[in-house]
Amino acid sequence: MEGIIFKALSGFYYVDCGGRTVTCRARGKFRHEKIKPLVGDRVSVTVQADGSGTVDTVLPRKNEFQRPAVANIDLLVVVASGAVPVTDPFLIDRVVAMAERRGCESVICFNKWDLEQPQGLFETYQKAGFPTLRVSAENGEGIDALSTLIAEKVCAFTGNSGVGKSSILNALEPGFHLQVGDVSDKLGRGRHTTRHVELYRLKNGAVVADTPGFSSFEEETGVGCAPEEVQYAFREFAPYLDRCRFVGCAHVKEKGCAVLEALAAGEIAQSRHDSYVRLYEQAKEVPEWERK
Ligand code: GDP
Ligand code: ZN
Repeated sequence: MEGIIFKALSGFYYVDCGGRTVTCRARGKFRHEKIKPLVGDRVSVTVQADGSGTVDTVLPRKNEFQRPAVANIDLLVVVASGAVPVTDPFLIDRVVAMAERRGCESVICFNKWDLEQPQGLFETYQKAGFPTLRVSAENGEGIDALSTLIAEKVCAFTGNSGVGKSSILNALEPGFHLQVGDVSDKLGRGRHTTRHVELYRLKNGAVVADTPGFSSFEEETGVGCAPEEVQYAFREFAPYLDRCRFVGCAHVKEKGCAVLEALAAGEIAQSRHDSYVRLYEQAKEVPEWERK
């Protein structure tokens, strides 16, 4: 049988096989292999007579994330806001670059649009070529558009604390948090102390990865790649990358750099370039064996 791991806890994998949940152990062989089953993995399972199962193989992944440990995310929903608490653009850029590196599409969702906030951030991401949305969990603006965008996709929500991720999920599906119980109950301690990932299916067919790891930008690590790879995680740099005067240009302060010229011309946003330089410098600090 084939299914999707929607929860992994204490050595058990909970696999959704077309609506039927099979509680599985992993085959012993996974202990010796590099690949370990992750939440989000499509797997083949064998079901025993007593209804319990084993995960036999992990089918090829579209992408995988380490922290939180989850695979096959179709869409990263980055919730941001220009209203309090204002989102630091660097945090958006870091998580988006990480997603970009892994072939995972991002949408930047500006929440609290019912409150007065500067348009600058929104325009920066729109111009950079990301799908962007203006939403308000408070008055419902943009929630239908978001719902349409995430339908039938496996999504993960991320954003700084207080930006309104829970409120948006509740607006998308009232009662969502009641349904998921203690894990997502903000009043319970669970949410911020457990690190397990779980997938939840919404009524529109979207599957949401609920995890404290994605819910906060807590990781201090960079994009996790070689410095010269960081440029490719900034999609609006692409048209300029082969126009720099020197091969191997770092686009930081080089003469004849087409990226810097585009920055000066206002084609690339200053905050995006600042983030690039910061991630580039961070990447140089990461030893080669820790890169992927
Ligand atoms: P989370 O930490 O990202 O999950 O944020 P919450 O969903 O807990 O929201 C944090 C606070 O922002 C709460 O007081 C919400 O009522 C408020 N909030 C969330 N979305 C909106 C919005 O669209 N407009 C306004 N005015 N307040 C919001
Ligand atoms: Zn350059």
